[in-house]
Amino acid sequence: MAQNKVVLITGSSRGIGAQTAQRFAQAGYAVVLNYRQAKKEAEELQQQIQAIGVECCAVQADVTKESDVSELFAQADNLGRLSVLVNNAGILKQQARVADISAERFMQVMEVNILSCLLCTQQAIKRMSTEQGGAGGAIVNVSSLAAKTGSPNEYVDYAASKGAMDSFTRGAALELAEEGIRVNAVRPGLIYTDIHASGGEPDRVNRLKHKLPLQRGGEPEEVAEAIYWLASEQSSYTTGTLLDVAGGL
Ligand code: NAP
Repeated sequence: MAQNKVVLITGSSRGIGAQTAQRFAQAGYAVVLNYRQAKKEAEELQQQIQAIGVECCAVQADVTKESDVSELFAQADNLGRLSVLVNNAGILKQQARVADISAERFMQVMEVNILSCLLCTQQAIKRMSTEQGGAGGAIVNVSSLAAKTGSPNEYVDYAASKGAMDSFTRGAALELAEEGIRVNAVRPGLIYTDIHASGGEPDRVNRLKHKLPLQRGGEPEEVAEAIYWLASEQSSYTTGTLLDVAGGL
């Protein structure tokens, strides 16, 4: 069991973030949950995690807003020293072609999917960096295989935001290595969560799963396990890596 380790997971009221929270709790981490609007789900998860016997708090914060992010990390400080940040919060919009993507929509997707990553990483550096009195730490970014495929005819804006996340992961990893902070990313493929409904196709995974080498969609637990590994001491020599969790795609 991890003693006195704290993990903060953005967007952890449901889906991959919620499963990741459960995974860290099982390993003994104190868990900071974050949600934008799903208070009830976040509080239910908080109770489930506390029942495991670890500390847990659920903090409402819009991770695109610098003041909210600052308050989120301040709340996390109450649980102890931050060891792990998982930049998981993400959105996609209705399936559309490039010609129909508005500038407003594009900026919303960029703000949630990549600006949030910058804001949260900056807060984590203040707490983890060995140059600032910290004990080091690990950051795991939840990117997407869309960074590789480009998501044509669906959401190129989303894919572009995840491409930015991959570059951010590489750059931050190289910059922060000497400060004791490892930075890696997972790139999930088709995972059974609510996010596909936001694109207008709740059953999208089942439509596309037969195109995957493994012939099935992935479960949030399978992504959570990869995130946990990248944050754990078991991956102590791994940084700047993009780990595909995508059924062979
Ligand atoms: P999901 O079920 O739709 O959950 C998204 C989470 O993000 C929710 O907890 C949501 O909070 C939170 N969130 C959204 N905007 C936020 C904001 N501004 N501030 C704080 N929290 C916010 O999605 P998911 O499928 O688990 O996705 C998690 C991550 O995996 C995303 O980055 C996504 O791009 C990535 N991913 C998913 C798949 C897949 O197939 N599912 C594939 C590749 C990558 P509320 O509940 O409060 O709205």
